[in-house]
Amino acid sequence: MSTPILQPGEIEAGAPPAPWLKLPETIQFNNRAERLAGLAKAHALADYLRFIAALCRAQHEAYALLPPVTLPSAEILAQCRTYAMPPLNAATLARTSQWSMALSHILARVETAAPAPARAAIARLASLDETALEAIANGLLRHDSEGLDRAAAPFVAAALQVYWHRLAAALDVQDIGRPETLALCPVCGSPPVASSVHVGPEHGLRYLHCALCGSEWNVVRIKCSSCENTKGIAYYGIENSPAAVKAETCDSCQSYLKILYLEKDPAADPIADDLASLTLDLLLDEQGYQRSGLNYFLIPGPT
Ligand SMILES: [Zn+2]
Ligand SMILES: [Zn+2]
Repeated sequence: MSTPILQPGEIEAGAPPAPWLKLPETIQFNNRAERLAGLAKAHALADYLRFIAALCRAQHEAYALLPPVTLPSAEILAQCRTYAMPPLNAATLARTSQWSMALSHILARVETAAPAPARAAIARLASLDETALEAIANGLLRHDSEGLDRAAAPFVAAALQVYWHRLAAALDVQDIGRPETLALCPVCGSPPVASSVHVGPEHGLRYLHCALCGSEWNVVRIKCSSCENTKGIAYYGIENSPAAVKAETCDSCQSYLKILYLEKDPAADPIADDLASLTLDLLLDEQGYQRSGLNYFLIPGPT
């Protein structure tokens, strides 16, 4: 059974309880592409954001083209639910070749839009055999950036996101056990990229967004998602930049995670807005905080 969330001040008479977990929606990649294209206007990193927008559009197409994915067996799903373990564990799940089908499509689609260094990376990836590709995927999913081809990594990550997204979308929330600690995605065990405070039926609730499968899970506000500390949490923003993005810092573990306020901008997207707010990361770095969010388009991610 999934456990709905009831938090003080967030219960309206007759309203159904908000979900503790939201599995990814099909339209996520396309929405992200549009958001990136919008953010690119008058942005110092316009070319980069437009290129990632093209990558997200290719993800959207690959998502639609993939044949149905095969989920873990009912027995494994039941076991994971009982012990509240992620059923699509990024580090241990046996992948099928569908993720590399997604990669082939993505490489073919973005090749012409890619800047020169990225085109060279695409050519390198296209020449690799299955074993070499699987090795890059393993390195990314286990957060081992040693010897990683950084220019090639975003393409492999994009394909893995499509594959995991499809798997997660094929699950039912009832399949997932709610773990006691919520630092990692309950569906695939990956770190969050950022969090967002929702509007609509989950108004005012904060959800963390999985860097890999795109699932979102609720974590109460004013609490470090990394170490669960609730004291001395502070918020940083950049002057004259959209108020939709802030960094939530924790003085206990010296880390931060970005937080998006959808009330200020309902189109804000955790991955897109994270990329468009790198100035905030520089500020936090100067203040001595380490990033806890993982963005696969920004390798190496957390240290
Ligand atoms: Zn996940
Ligand atoms: Zn902390």
